[in-house]
Amino acid sequence: MRATVAGSHMKAVAVHPSSRQVGLVDIDEPVLQSPTGVRVRILEVGVCGTDKEICRFEYGTPPAGSDYLVLGHEMLGIVEDAGADVTRVRQGDLVNVMVRRPCHDGSCLPCQRGRQDFCTTGQYTERGIMQYHGFMTGYVVDDEQYLCPIPAELRDIAVLTEPLTIAEKGLQQVSAVQDRLPWSDPSGHRAVVLGAGPVGLLGAMALKVRGFDTYVYSREAHDDARAQLVESMGATYVSSAEKNADQLAAQVGNIDVVYEATGVSSVSFEVLRVLGVNGICIFTGIPGLHGPTPTDIDGLMRAMVLKNQLVLGTVNANRPAFESAIADLGRFRAQFPEAIGSLISKRWQMAEHGDLLMGRAGGVKNVISMDGAWAR
Ligand code: BGC
Repeated sequence: MRATVAGSHMKAVAVHPSSRQVGLVDIDEPVLQSPTGVRVRILEVGVCGTDKEICRFEYGTPPAGSDYLVLGHEMLGIVEDAGADVTRVRQGDLVNVMVRRPCHDGSCLPCQRGRQDFCTTGQYTERGIMQYHGFMTGYVVDDEQYLCPIPAELRDIAVLTEPLTIAEKGLQQVSAVQDRLPWSDPSGHRAVVLGAGPVGLLGAMALKVRGFDTYVYSREAHDDARAQLVESMGATYVSSAEKNADQLAAQVGNIDVVYEATGVSSVSFEVLRVLGVNGICIFTGIPGLHGPTPTDIDGLMRAMVLKNQLVLGTVNANRPAFESAIADLGRFRAQFPEAIGSLISKRWQMAEHGDLLMGRAGGVKNVISMDGAWAR
């Protein structure tokens, strides 16, 4: 543990949209200011597509009054200090700090009820993304209500919690929505995951542990390491280079769930076309805006009505999604230790952020190890 000296500084990875620069900045170390505040030392930060988009200046907004935004929203930290009224966590606990904070509009019922993942005004903030500094630095201070404790035995994979929450929130909604019909439990149902990136692979694991017959459909060839990873967890890999959407559907049978994790609308709508009877399609990717594209909307609408289909988009996550993500990481470790272990391709130093954010670092999930590297 390190005492905070008033006026101490630390380094952070930040994006400056006005001057279109990405680099290190010196910022003040945060101090505890409220009895429910917690000071967290950052151990690791995952790099994702959203971070890269922010570094291309296509997304993200600095906090009001700041000309830069500290990046990072996928994290693992350790509690260093806690205010007198904190009950949720203790010094030394591993924690995940959640991403989104509520808006302050009294008319937004979801935010009033702690469900800012369904904010109605769009005035929410998100750490490392939207008007709130993120985690690519040494310490953060946050209120305990935004922290989730993590069991020590998940130390090596817990940085995957946030990308997994996307699937957890999606699956919460699948069970809520599929209560509309007699649907039994997931075994016997078939799920297709689009994309073999971290969000897709974690989603495939979440579907698999719930008993879905799980397929991953992605562009990598069948002998790619990602395909092998999919097969090693007992799911089936189908390469889009080898099979089109109709051939995929012929192989799978009735597709009950599509979990989209590509952000590529052309592929997603092509697979939506072969969604099965009573099927549900979950979109999680955020595509760039490239203008209108011809699509057979008659065919889509006809299928949606005649097959009782449902398409839903989902963004961000709530506390129960974080908690079930943490529980699921434990299940993944028990059921497919190799697959979950190989999702984190490499741990990098903070000084290497340029390669990760703007270069072409390969692999599945790249992680910056912040432990101590931020100090002057
Ligand atoms: C993050 C979410 C966030 C979304 C939109 C995603 O990359 O995982 O927490 O809500 O971007 O900003």
